[in-house]
Amino acid sequence: MLNDKELPTTLQKAIKFFSDDLTCIKFIASRRWVDGKAICPKCGETNNTFMESRKVWQCKNKECKKQFSVKVGTIFEDSPIGLDKWLTAVWLIVNAKNGISSYEIHRSIGVTQKTAWFMLHRIRLAMQSGSLEKLSGNVECDETFIGGLAKNMHKWKREQKIKGRGSVGKTAVFGALERKGRVLAKVIQKTDKKTLHAEVKEKVESGSNLFTDEWASYRGLDASYIHEVINHGIEYVRGHIHTNGIENFWALLKRTLKGTYVSVEPFHLERYLAEQTYRFNERKGNDKERFLGVIKAVSGKRLTYDELRGYQTS
Ligand SMILES: [Zn+2]
Repeated sequence: MLNDKELPTTLQKAIKFFSDDLTCIKFIASRRWVDGKAICPKCGETNNTFMESRKVWQCKNKECKKQFSVKVGTIFEDSPIGLDKWLTAVWLIVNAKNGISSYEIHRSIGVTQKTAWFMLHRIRLAMQSGSLEKLSGNVECDETFIGGLAKNMHKWKREQKIKGRGSVGKTAVFGALERKGRVLAKVIQKTDKKTLHAEVKEKVESGSNLFTDEWASYRGLDASYIHEVINHGIEYVRGHIHTNGIENFWALLKRTLKGTYVSVEPFHLERYLAEQTYRFNERKGNDKERFLGVIKAVSGKRLTYDELRGYQTS
């Protein structure tokens, strides 16, 4: 079992620490399985033998005898890329405030840009929060629109006609931010009353103080919330009534998307949101804590190349 205190705290130490294959295996095993005891993915057997030469476990159940690696059932599954590179890539992305492009990963760890792109999408999947806990206290809600490349416009127009505020060809995103707390963000199909009311109710505890702008779709939430509205046609702040927190988050998101990722297809936007919200929500932690938070979530998630193929690779 690896002790928490032995784990690296900086990128330089992480690269050194994870340069050893067996250390990587021991590390991931200790994070995904109780006491690092491997569980057979086929039959659930917990008594298995680690074969050091092949770096795989052999299931002890005579009916099964499956051999499996530490990558099985994780975002690393079926990837020929070594765990030393995977773990370095995770470290880089969770701690890069403005994100990191597949080109940077390609150059930094020595994989092709296409492989780096695929790795980043899998890591983003692990960054996706499974938390269903609602926000409470003072919560700001807002929507924004993410634009894309002109060459994709025809496809977007066909697939993502957005009714209401905003323009056709962009993807709408809803966000809720608890002041001094977490942010939740999600791609939405429309910005109408039905959609926004459903999002607010799903993400914000009833009885909370709710702050929005004057957009008509937010009207009628008074029954469940103490709803305060800031009219952006007139002013941006009135005492504690404003949506500056969520707007700062949008600014950060857009800077990352424009500066680092250049072009993002609507199909992939949900995962970029996961990446940005993860870093935001873990902002009080240090680099090691952010890294371990993602490693904890690598199991039970898979994204195959087929699921990603057919979409732009940037
Ligand atoms: Zn088995």
